[in-house]
Amino acid sequence: MNENEIKYIKDIYSKSKMKSEPYCCPRCGYQTIQKQNMRYHLKIMKRICPTAIRDLVLTDEIKETVLRERLYHPPVNPSITQTINNIHMMNNFIASMDPISKLKHITEHHNIELVDFETRVEKLYKRDVHRFITDGFRRDVVYNKEHFMDMVSDITSSGSEISDMNIVYDSNTDHVHFAVGEEWELRRSQPAILFLVETLVLYNLSFYEIYLIRKLVSGRCVQLEECLTMYYHFIGCFNIQPYVFEKNDSMVLFNESDIGYSDTSDKSDIEAHRIVDKYNSMYLRIRNTLTDADRRSASKEVIDILKSNHKLNISQLNKHILEVLRVDEGFKTRMISNL
Ligand SMILES: [Zn+2]
Repeated sequence: MNENEIKYIKDIYSKSKMKSEPYCCPRCGYQTIQKQNMRYHLKIMKRICPTAIRDLVLTDEIKETVLRERLYHPPVNPSITQTINNIHMMNNFIASMDPISKLKHITEHHNIELVDFETRVEKLYKRDVHRFITDGFRRDVVYNKEHFMDMVSDITSSGSEISDMNIVYDSNTDHVHFAVGEEWELRRSQPAILFLVETLVLYNLSFYEIYLIRKLVSGRCVQLEECLTMYYHFIGCFNIQPYVFEKNDSMVLFNESDIGYSDTSDKSDIEAHRIVDKYNSMYLRIRNTLTDADRRSASKEVIDILKSNHKLNISQLNKHILEVLRVDEGFKTRMISNL
């Protein structure tokens, strides 16, 4: 075969190959092997085809290219590739940084202060506590175990607020950092779990306990007794004492007229003693029925919630950092220089 023959065969081959390839609209993906159909689609058809493939204005040049070459490949914009690479690099850079120094940088940048963990929990339940004390709820409040775990989730999730990012879990060491005042306090995971639940009890659930007992004292209600059982079961898993354990303190609440119900206000000290003793032994009875498996599973549930919220919190934090990094060169320099 000479050169011309080779060329001829190649031409035939490529033509036959091309023939089987359809014309393709780069905007909507419409395909046809008939050139006239594509001509109709691109030039005559009145309605504009949908941007199913890409948002592209079909210029005359593009239309001619499609009719000539069957396909049109838009040029790749190098600046977009560059930007994607940069974002990818930045994300890697952000992910490699320690969360606490990230928090330090971002709070300094926005000139905000972290809300201390306990302060945030207190604020979160302030309204509920007031209503527990004054019986200000329209309906009976009945919590079950899911509610308690939801609360654990509420206090360990910072949402999108930077100022609420006051818990950081370190999976390498299995330690939890809590923002306390201006400092970070470090706890191993087990004491951290206890601290979380204790904080919840201190700023919310102990008032729920008082509320339940007052309701129970003023009239029998099976459902509320079940609620108290569930609550004692929950705190029993963490060996947290009920409110009625602190005898002297709790007696005041079951005596005091201005914060209690009218029918408990004139109860004698003896009556208050009786109430406190009764519910304290109810707690002890429930706690004694708990098995190690109960305690382990309660702890595991709390730490699992903490861990999954930590992931969400960190991804929020990274988003905040990325936003600033993209627009503020000075911020970038400061972060890099502090590595
Ligand atoms: Zn089209």
